[in-house]
Amino acid sequence: MFAAKRLSLPALFVPLILIAILATAGRGLADESHAQRRAEMIHLIEADVRRTSVYLKRSALDPRVLEALAQVPRHEFVPSSEVSRAYQNRPLPIGHGQTISQPYIVAIMTDLLGLEAGARVLEIGTGSGYQAAVLAALDTRVWTIEIIEPLGLEAAERLQRLGYDRIETRIGDGYYGWPEQAPFDAIVVTAAADHIPPPLIKQLKPGGRMIIPVGGRFQVQQLVMVEKTTEGKTTTRQILPVRFVPLTRAD
Ligand code: SAH
Repeated sequence: MFAAKRLSLPALFVPLILIAILATAGRGLADESHAQRRAEMIHLIEADVRRTSVYLKRSALDPRVLEALAQVPRHEFVPSSEVSRAYQNRPLPIGHGQTISQPYIVAIMTDLLGLEAGARVLEIGTGSGYQAAVLAALDTRVWTIEIIEPLGLEAAERLQRLGYDRIETRIGDGYYGWPEQAPFDAIVVTAAADHIPPPLIKQLKPGGRMIIPVGGRFQVQQLVMVEKTTEGKTTTRQILPVRFVPLTRAD
């Protein structure tokens, strides 16, 4: 007669503990390789900045901006089918015909805003939530608006899961801004408009800056910096030609 051999508790637990250790180590390695790829992405951005220094009027970005991009896990902001491309310096599809911007573009737009810790920033076009996360990594408070409901809800859930608790999201037409939270030190629009929305100019603080791509769907668009002087006068300056998805309007 067989007596079923009882497995002792240690015999059961040791393999389980080993599996847990290996899984954690595996995740640690994956995190490390993501960090490594982010570091490589930063080098690509720096090279692009040097190449476009004539437009940007500088040959290097604020190191704090590069540090923010080195921190934010871009692979968490792209669909699973795009994860292997997450640290390439290019835009990627995020569904609903929209894209997560190219890291170089996110870097220069963030840099141009000249943010200080504690700044209040409004973003129009949440998309994946990546640009908002980069802004928040600079110790700012961010309000971000997305017009496509499923994208906005997905980004809100993602930002919460990743612990970005200084970002507030809203679904709606960002053309009108977020009047209840105005005025803002900085506004960044991540979809191209054919004119600068007057409500956004109104919601900019004196001394504040807005970065917005301006131009039609089939035209060359220009990244424009809008500055409001302390006397409340606005000036605009074209920075460089860009290509963004259009700012759409609620019906
Ligand atoms: N900042 C995003 C890039 C998003 S692409 C990121 O980091 O992933 C531009 C986004 O603007 C799209 O998601 C698009 O749906 C959104 N959008 C277009 N028109 C809008 C509007 N009027 N108000 C708010 N969001 C708008």
